[in-house]
Amino acid sequence: MAAARVVSIPLRTRFRGMTERELLVFEGPNGWSEWAAFPEYGDEEASLWLEAALEWGYGSLPATKRSQVKVNAILPAIKVEEIAKLLSKAGKFETVKIKVSESGQNLTDDISRIQEVKTLYPEAKIRLDANGGFDIPLALELIEKLSALGIKLEYFEQPVKTIAELAELRLEISKRGLETLIAADESARKSSDPLAVEIAGAADILVLKSAPLGGIARALEVAASSKLPIVASSAMQSSIGLGAELHFAASLDELVFDAGLGTLNLFAGDLVRNQLRPENGVLEVRREELNTSALEIFNAEDHRYDWWIARLERCGRLIGLEG
Ligand SMILES: [Mg+2]
Repeated sequence: MAAARVVSIPLRTRFRGMTERELLVFEGPNGWSEWAAFPEYGDEEASLWLEAALEWGYGSLPATKRSQVKVNAILPAIKVEEIAKLLSKAGKFETVKIKVSESGQNLTDDISRIQEVKTLYPEAKIRLDANGGFDIPLALELIEKLSALGIKLEYFEQPVKTIAELAELRLEISKRGLETLIAADESARKSSDPLAVEIAGAADILVLKSAPLGGIARALEVAASSKLPIVASSAMQSSIGLGAELHFAASLDELVFDAGLGTLNLFAGDLVRNQLRPENGVLEVRREELNTSALEIFNAEDHRYDWWIARLERCGRLIGLEG
């Protein structure tokens, strides 16, 4: 992979503890591609992301089935008084995903944030994402409190960490006569078998991203072999990598839920001129060319470049890549 570059793009707000997003980008015959495995990931997991990046740069890609994809807006766990401003940047949307269970915050913070969104956008569908941050009692408490407030969720994504906990939480929800749907994200992509969630009765919905699953073709196979509805989503990629997730979303047979591709408003910069930002909640399916001056603007420090290249060599060996 000649001429790989490493960039570090600043984020508008802290997200998953990050203030910058580091990515390795390279050009293949299909166009520019991006390896976006988060730095804390081990080589095995990062290798799947590398396979996905190679597919987007070099591989044959499935045909898309639509030219537009509806997407949700995303709200990080920010202060209530900052919500209106951040969401106004997302433009029009029908669905908003609210991050909950941020460390250093409590249920009251989550509920205030959700209520503020409900006040600002009474018609919007609300989905929550805890990234596995709650235990079962806390997740139930949040669901019950929201239900008491008359706030209905579209679904609750990864409220608890493990597949066993998800399954138990679903039982508790139905025992209590609640109707909250549970979506699996981390449990569906970190497990060696993405469909283990379904077999365990641990979710009503599967959140799928092509990068962590090793590419678009593999993600489509998972979607095809699952009976659960799919939410196509992204993993904090720039417009280069987001293009692959958009291609995946556009290649699915059916899109029941708005896709989780509205993540670019969390970025303070990008690698293309015409960003893959939704307009009125809709993304046009397309692949954008890299803006080469972005490589200079966001060029990562030398020691980070060295770190990524060493990681590339290790992960390349794991997937049988030569040189
Ligand atoms: Mg998630």
